[in-house]
Amino acid sequence: MGYEIDKSDEQWRQELSPAEYHVLREAGTEPAFTGEYNHTKTTGVYQCRACGAELFRSDTKFESHCGWPSFFDPADSSAVELLEDRSHGMVRTEVRCARCGSHLGHVFRGEGYPTPTDERYCINSVSLKLAPEEG
Ligand SMILES: [Zn+2]
Repeated sequence: MGYEIDKSDEQWRQELSPAEYHVLREAGTEPAFTGEYNHTKTTGVYQCRACGAELFRSDTKFESHCGWPSFFDPADSSAVELLEDRSHGMVRTEVRCARCGSHLGHVFRGEGYPTPTDERYCINSVSLKLAPEEG
């Protein structure tokens, strides 16, 4: 697996908080309705908390009431990597940062949300860092 940002587990542990490490590097999930960006409507860019890559823009964030920040489209389709995830007895699509391979969340399709893509990128707040737009 060749990611542009390739650090050892030890390095990641030093750079990330335990909660960030658990989600980003161990594909954990933050508890629903607890994340800091769950209801955020600030205009700006959501970056990968591990490497700073631009992942999502606030204008694709929508209220899904699922308990995690939800986006209907990545900022750039090459910014994220999608992988089949068969853990927990389900078949889901995992979303990772394409630059550093960190776990972000999952993407669900065809749920009927009134968005242009009918996709819901269900992303952990702890995987993101919001860079608010100036002015
Ligand atoms: Zn990253």
